[in-house]
Amino acid sequence: MTEVTYDYDVVVIGAGHAGTEAALAAARMGARTALLTTNLDTVGQMSCNPAIGGVGKGQIVREIDALGGAMGRAIDATGLQFRMLNCRKGPAMHSPRAQADKRLYQAEIKRIVEEQENLELRQEGVEELLVREGDRETEPPLVPGPSSPIPSIAGVRVRGGATYRAPTVVLTTGTFLQALMHTGEAKTAGGRAGEGTSAGISGALHRLGIRLERFKTGTPPRLNGRTIDYTACDLQPGDDAPQPFSFLTDELTQSQLPCHVTYTTPAVHDLIRANLERAPMYSGQINSSGPRYCPSIEDKVVRFADKQQHQLFLEPEGRNTREVYVNGVSTSLPRDVQDAMFRLIPGCERAQIMRYGYAVEYDYAPPDQLQPTLESKRVAGLFFAGQINGTTGYEEAGAQGLVAGANAALKVADREPLVLGRDEAYIGVLIDDLVTCGVDEPYRMFTSRAEYRLLLRQDNADRRLTPLAARCGLASAQREARLRAKLGQVDRVAHLLETVRYQGRSLSEQLRRPEVDWTAALAMAPAEAAAELAGAPADAVEQAIIDARYVGYVARQQTEVDRQRRLAEKRIPATFDYARITHLRHEAREKLARVQPTNLAQASRISGVTPADITLLMAHLGGGR
Ligand code: FAD
Repeated sequence: MTEVTYDYDVVVIGAGHAGTEAALAAARMGARTALLTTNLDTVGQMSCNPAIGGVGKGQIVREIDALGGAMGRAIDATGLQFRMLNCRKGPAMHSPRAQADKRLYQAEIKRIVEEQENLELRQEGVEELLVREGDRETEPPLVPGPSSPIPSIAGVRVRGGATYRAPTVVLTTGTFLQALMHTGEAKTAGGRAGEGTSAGISGALHRLGIRLERFKTGTPPRLNGRTIDYTACDLQPGDDAPQPFSFLTDELTQSQLPCHVTYTTPAVHDLIRANLERAPMYSGQINSSGPRYCPSIEDKVVRFADKQQHQLFLEPEGRNTREVYVNGVSTSLPRDVQDAMFRLIPGCERAQIMRYGYAVEYDYAPPDQLQPTLESKRVAGLFFAGQINGTTGYEEAGAQGLVAGANAALKVADREPLVLGRDEAYIGVLIDDLVTCGVDEPYRMFTSRAEYRLLLRQDNADRRLTPLAARCGLASAQREARLRAKLGQVDRVAHLLETVRYQGRSLSEQLRRPEVDWTAALAMAPAEAAAELAGAPADAVEQAIIDARYVGYVARQQTEVDRQRRLAEKRIPATFDYARITHLRHEAREKLARVQPTNLAQASRISGVTPADITLLMAHLGGGR
């Protein structure tokens, strides 16, 4: 049989949220890229919640967009309902969220992928990783010893025997490695309802000496909306003036659909308690950890035993379907218990379940085995992104995908890698947390994880990241031009706010007083300036107001950022031998050797490494603080 071989610069495995952003990023940067996925009809599929964004996550979507990614544009084109969460709190907490039309979202992502230059999307199931040892291309050998030379990735082999050769491969297989789904006592192999599992890749990773562990996640039942009594539920409409996710979208013009809210009842909790021994998490059928902050309904009933009710959101899955996602009732209880549970929920007494909830257990590769570029420390050229790194959520996956894809392309071009700082982006916080601290439960983003969250707002993601994206080749000329125009408008508004005075104070100073809002500030300006300010674009005004109000806080955060940057400038060579520092505590030595931080700032964030350890390390690297 003739062996078929294809050659690329970057091969991406899996076209979920991480894989599509990875492939798009690599291709935007000019790398010849192949995106291989088991099923072309599930490109960009939302395995769980039909929604994008939320607290901490909405900021990530704005950053993905500012870096030229697809997620923001796709949700703007296909969203059913848009809300800005936490509006009553300060701007650092404002978090956009949207309900998606699940099918249209997926089709839009696939369309964006299909339209991308340098990118080929193919339906292929990857079964084997190929590595290069010296001049020889081979399947991974047996587990290498600690002193074995680091192999380089050479490509992948797909079902049917064809080979895709590439010096870089990005692995984004989500929940599909050795995946097992549970509904009550019933177990099925597969990473998502109706789909199979991938076994070959886990074997290859193991043989390369890459550690794999198990996590679990769950999903709620979906109901037929025709059978829900919405009059018994509370209405939750979208925002009156919905704001787009993408900095390229001028306005959202589609009509918005409402969501509804209902609650569990004490009778539901009694039913769950009576059937706990049939829940895989409680019967011992599942041992792996799941997301603590996104617990199943059986977890909530046990952990918050005194609560009389839990809120449930009824979210439409699309405009052309009656299917409704029941947010808040993720479960792997048996089918008969799920049926009985809805009979006891107001508004859902007669509801028909269209898909039952289930939990899935899968392999992930602990991310402390990665460099800050998301490249493996054990296999040169092999990058990891998304749920395979122990994260959960489309946004977290997309963000990692973009960075991994960009770094694969940069490596092929022999250019400087892209590593975002914790002071530059939530994406920087996410990746630094993963590679520096690892994970002990599925990782999701929260605003509280970002120490500089006043700098990392959703409104300024373009100012923070688009110039960087343009330098790497990630952002289009159109995006750059839009940002330039916006910054010009912000400067003009800021100039007026600084120079126009009222009762001895500039308008900027006036805006710092809590009782002065924009309307009041306009009333303080002379007619000509007031007219110009009133006519300025809303996004430029928003930026200028936030800049004026928070100037003092931002300056204080900047001082701390500068201190950390000085630490980050103290590089630690990859070959640094921690055993040489005889006075270093055993725990610090062991953790530093495992994580291999690239600089002192990263070393200082490793849990168990103390300021005294850092001082010792600094003395050995040479130079003071
Ligand atoms: P995925 O979106 O899973 O994409 C992986 C892709 O890889 C798929 O297209 C698959 O077909 C492809 N693939 C797999 N193996 C191969 C192979 N060998 N060759 C080629 N292609 C391959 N997130 C939350 O935030 N909250 C939740 O409550 C939540 N619940 C979830 C419940 C379930 C049941 C599941 C399955 C996921 C849940 N998630 C949840 C997680 C969310 O779906 C993921 O975080 C997100 O989809 C991860 O994106 P990804 O790109 O890493 O992987």
